[in-house]
Amino acid sequence: MIEELMRRAATEDDDAIEELSAIADADPRRLTPHLSLLLDLDVLYPAKLYRAADADVVRRIIEQVDSGRTPDRLNHLLMVLAHSAHPSAESALRRWTTQPPPGSDKLYVDALSYAHEGGWAVGSDGRRRNLCGDTAYRWVMRATAPGGDRPSCPWCASPLWVAADLDTADADIAAALAHTGWSGRLVIETCQFCACYTTLYSHVTPTGDVTWWAGNSRPSYLPDAPEPEDPTTLSPVLGPALTSPYQVSAWNQGGSTLGGRPEWIQDAEHADCPGCGELMDYVGLIAGADLDEYGEGAYYLHLHQPCGFAAVNYQQS
Ligand SMILES: [Zn+2]
Ligand SMILES: [Zn+2]
Repeated sequence: MIEELMRRAATEDDDAIEELSAIADADPRRLTPHLSLLLDLDVLYPAKLYRAADADVVRRIIEQVDSGRTPDRLNHLLMVLAHSAHPSAESALRRWTTQPPPGSDKLYVDALSYAHEGGWAVGSDGRRRNLCGDTAYRWVMRATAPGGDRPSCPWCASPLWVAADLDTADADIAAALAHTGWSGRLVIETCQFCACYTTLYSHVTPTGDVTWWAGNSRPSYLPDAPEPEDPTTLSPVLGPALTSPYQVSAWNQGGSTLGGRPEWIQDAEHADCPGCGELMDYVGLIAGADLDEYGEGAYYLHLHQPCGFAAVNYQQS
């Protein structure tokens, strides 16, 4: 059945690609024995199909890049390697960062930056770091009581929105945040409107305090003196545990998740920590479709526990 889907995917059959993607999200290892065929068929997109690629498939892809046979496919091949997160893929991406492979002149970022697409990075200390957790929960939206005295956005004067109110006293929340090192309450508050234009940072403490970071820099293209708007009254609460960290949708209703891996609408955009310059850990995603019937795009939440910074950024198609 899987190989039949792969042959159909090679003819750009969207339904087959969607079915394979669903398998890659639910249980990527089911695809592992068949990925050699997928590579033979030259199906490289979506790269997440190769999440559980084994050493042999990874070796073939690295060989294809080194050979320079398909320089126009380099972007896709690097995406595939990033999603595999395989140790050999990591070595190859490191090597190509100093010795760019054929076709690199067409890339916008260096080879190692592709790792972000797979949810990992190499830090300034040269060590590999996973930016995401392996435990995920559905995030369900609940109306919150209208905040009597919510702080407002220094830029647009709209009341700030509580995008997350979490406490690791709950074992499930502790599991979802384990990769961040956070312990205690975590409130992430942001401007629902201005976050659509730039990454907004706040200081957070384990007692649940949250304050707008004075260093947030207002983009010049932000509309001038807009009228304050009321943000959504919805905030996410913990829903059922998910059976894989990949069951997330930035597009669909019911796609919001705490923990696990993000689905990016554009290129991966893990936020830089303003405290130390390292990439922040990924916390969760709120799909616009879960906030509003006509909502679009998605809010991505990030945290850097050592520095006490949280961030929210937004992507849309
Ligand atoms: Zn604002
Ligand atoms: Zn930091």
